[in-house]
Amino acid sequence: MPTPRFLSELVGCLSQGAAGNPTVAMVEAAFRHHGLDWRYVNMEVAPPDLAHAVLGARAMGFRGFNLSMPHKVTVIPHLDGLGESATLIGAVNCVVRRGHQLIGENTDGKGFLESLKAVQDPRGRRVVLFGAGGAARAVAVEVGLAGVDHITVVNRDEARGRDLVDTLRNRAHLNAEFVPWTGEFRLPANTDIVINGTSIGLYEPETRLPLDVTTLGPGMVVADVVFSPPQTRLLRDATARGCRTIDGLGMLVNQGVIGVRYWTGMDPDPPVMRHALEVAMGLRSA
Ligand code: NDP
Repeated sequence: MPTPRFLSELVGCLSQGAAGNPTVAMVEAAFRHHGLDWRYVNMEVAPPDLAHAVLGARAMGFRGFNLSMPHKVTVIPHLDGLGESATLIGAVNCVVRRGHQLIGENTDGKGFLESLKAVQDPRGRRVVLFGAGGAARAVAVEVGLAGVDHITVVNRDEARGRDLVDTLRNRAHLNAEFVPWTGEFRLPANTDIVINGTSIGLYEPETRLPLDVTTLGPGMVVADVVFSPPQTRLLRDATARGCRTIDGLGMLVNQGVIGVRYWTGMDPDPPVMRHALEVAMGLRSA
């Protein structure tokens, strides 16, 4: 791996407990493929040290950095500004140096939207979204801004669910409603797109959402933000019921593609990045 000539060719990933982060291999594969002597380096940062880490990145002229949990919200006061969707979502997963400013963006929802658009144009569609945490908020805002007709947010914690719906209605001017998640949820028959935005199924291939799977129909597109395993129980159930499905790996790759585009100004090759990610996750051999 070549050494960058300047720290301005360094992009960080400020994370906690993410040693072996497979997105490092994914982003560095893009740099290599496009002949850039840049590096993307995972940096373990404990929450009390976040402010100093951002000051360090600023002082050393990093081109930018990603943030993983728990830093996505707490980083905001340390930045110079936010992009439009990061403002609505209230979380930042990607920081970009623009001139002397560090600007916070949210590429999670944008990455999801790219995956969705490859399968289904969301304009005018009715969406059921499970979850109201960071990933679900990002997905809801981007899918909403892409012109869906209606979003139903289904969440266990009422306050979080209602807060997301308030944002969608009052700040993004979308047609949205909240439904508390009690028992097995039955999808309305006119649902076009079903999204799991919760962490249910992460590293647990057999764990099911509290969802009546008999309400999944062949006309529906079913997407999962969970990327490990890529074929979650929800996606397997949906395939068995004739739905088209979208895995969480596509979202992860696409947020990386958008990040590399923001930092370098260049359009990276998504298949190269997906291949590297799958190898790093042990899903295929090199
Ligand atoms: P948060 O902790 O912010 O939110 C978790 C959400 O899951 C909440 O809505 C929570 O509900 C819900 N939830 C968790 N367990 C249950 C349960 N047993 N029953 C009902 N609801 C439950 O996490 P994130 O939003 O940051 O992450 C969610 C998932 O998204 C993770 O698996 C993460 O890996 C994935 N992700 C994927 C990305 C990708 O690129 N593919 C990018 C970012 C995240 P409640 O509010 O009621 O607690």
